[in-house]
Amino acid sequence: MSLSALKVVFALCFLHAPFTQSHKNTITRDVAIIGGGSAGTFAAVRLRDEGKSVVLVEKESILGGHTNTYKDPETWVTVDYGVEIFHNQQLVKDYFNRLNVSWTIEVPNFGSSSPHYLNSSANSIIYESPDPREGLLAYAEQLAKYPSIERGFFLPDPIPEDLLLPFGQFLAKYPGIGNAAYTIFQYGQGLGDFLNQPTLYVFKNFGLDIIQDISTGFLVTTSSDNYEIYDHATKVLGPDVLFNGQVVSTQRRDDQAIELDIETPFGTQVVVAKKLLIAIPQKLDNMNHFALDTREANLFGKFENTGYYTSLVKNTGLPTNFTSYSVSSGAPYNLPTLPGIYSIFATAIEDVFDIKYGSPHSVPDDFVQNEILSYIKKLQANGYAEKVSGEPEFVAYKSHAPFELTVSRDRIAKGFYNDLYSLQGHRNTWYTGAAFHTQDSSMIWNYTESYVLPELLK
Ligand SMILES: Cc1cc2nc3c(=O)[nH]c(=O)nc-3n(C[C@H](O)[C@H](O)[C@H](O)COP(=O)(O)OP(=O)(O)OC[C@H]3O[C@@H](n4cnc5c(N)ncnc54)[C@H](O)[C@@H]3O)c2cc1C
Repeated sequence: MSLSALKVVFALCFLHAPFTQSHKNTITRDVAIIGGGSAGTFAAVRLRDEGKSVVLVEKESILGGHTNTYKDPETWVTVDYGVEIFHNQQLVKDYFNRLNVSWTIEVPNFGSSSPHYLNSSANSIIYESPDPREGLLAYAEQLAKYPSIERGFFLPDPIPEDLLLPFGQFLAKYPGIGNAAYTIFQYGQGLGDFLNQPTLYVFKNFGLDIIQDISTGFLVTTSSDNYEIYDHATKVLGPDVLFNGQVVSTQRRDDQAIELDIETPFGTQVVVAKKLLIAIPQKLDNMNHFALDTREANLFGKFENTGYYTSLVKNTGLPTNFTSYSVSSGAPYNLPTLPGIYSIFATAIEDVFDIKYGSPHSVPDDFVQNEILSYIKKLQANGYAEKVSGEPEFVAYKSHAPFELTVSRDRIAKGFYNDLYSLQGHRNTWYTGAAFHTQDSSMIWNYTESYVLPELLK
């Protein structure tokens, strides 16, 4: 073939390849949503119901994010070992009713009424768990000063020093709350270095709604199968979900359509959308395919994260209804050192125990799993569990790292959250999820409904 013929062939290939690709694989939508966890799934269903066309891109093969449900293969009994409870709020009820998920209100029952308080060697320590009620009242009094933070990172200006204090110092300043510190620590599992976190994050994780629901009841699925929410949402959304999808490149320009290349098991899918909603953990390394500008990269690059891990373990030899909480005698408020085990609970499946593990930073999965297994061995050696034939075995394990996304108190003081929220709408892109409010599905749905959807519906 002559050189000129080669040039013609080359030119034809060049001209036709992009046309063929976009003709074949391009879909056009009002809103492209990235991340099919709690926030992204809610947004997709609500936007569809309001008449918008959507596509939801989820990197896993199922929706639900931190929602993990295990179904016993023999009895079909289900155990939620990720997200368990929701707030008793109209918006949550409306969402569940929309998805035809039956719900009920339940006052929490935290396992055995006489739990073990065990140290890191799995030895019982003498620990009289203080009655937290008065401490919780004193804590609620402080929370009530900042109603706007129950709705989002809407911080008073100037930001009160109390919200910036490491929580340990805040407790020292308000000693009346001390008796509730351990309860707040266990409810706020996943916060990492609890006493060093700015008080703002503790307030947001353990807010007034939770205090109210502890006494009047949380909303739970009647089936004790929270995956039902996402199973039903998957059916509602149908082919508008791209499972096992990863954004590999993005074009974002002000006031113009967003273009995304998404790798799926069926090839590359091009999505052209009027607006983009990002509902994945906004850590820089998870955002690097979204063509970030300097302003965005600077903000997302500031996030640090904790690690939170959940597992179901069988063949432990632990007695039915065994419950233990980790403590460290002599430590402030008896809080255990992390990385370490938070708690062990019996589940609705006999001989399957729910074990939660936390860390101030991400740690490798094999490290967490070894720690959990060696702790069970210590429980056996110390007589809390019977010696059984065979080894303890994971029936389920899930890493939820990166979990809590936080920034330092200095950055909060310098207006990090004002800057973060000012990204809403910047380059046709909006954000939701835990980093934009708190690790709480009901609260995230409220934030999304009130502050994000109105913009996407314009
Ligand atoms: C063990 C555990 C127990 C909890 N218990 C409760 C509870 O009882 N009640 C409660 O309200 N909250 C609970 N939470 C907090 C709960 O996690 C949050 O309320 C909520 O799930 C956060 O929603 P989200 O959408 O921000 O994140 P997620 O639910 O984690 O969703 C993010 C989604 O994005 C996907 N994703 C990530 N990166 C990408 C990418 N690059 N491309 C595409 N997709 C991506 C993920 O796979 C995931 O599906 C719990 C969390 C954990 C870990």
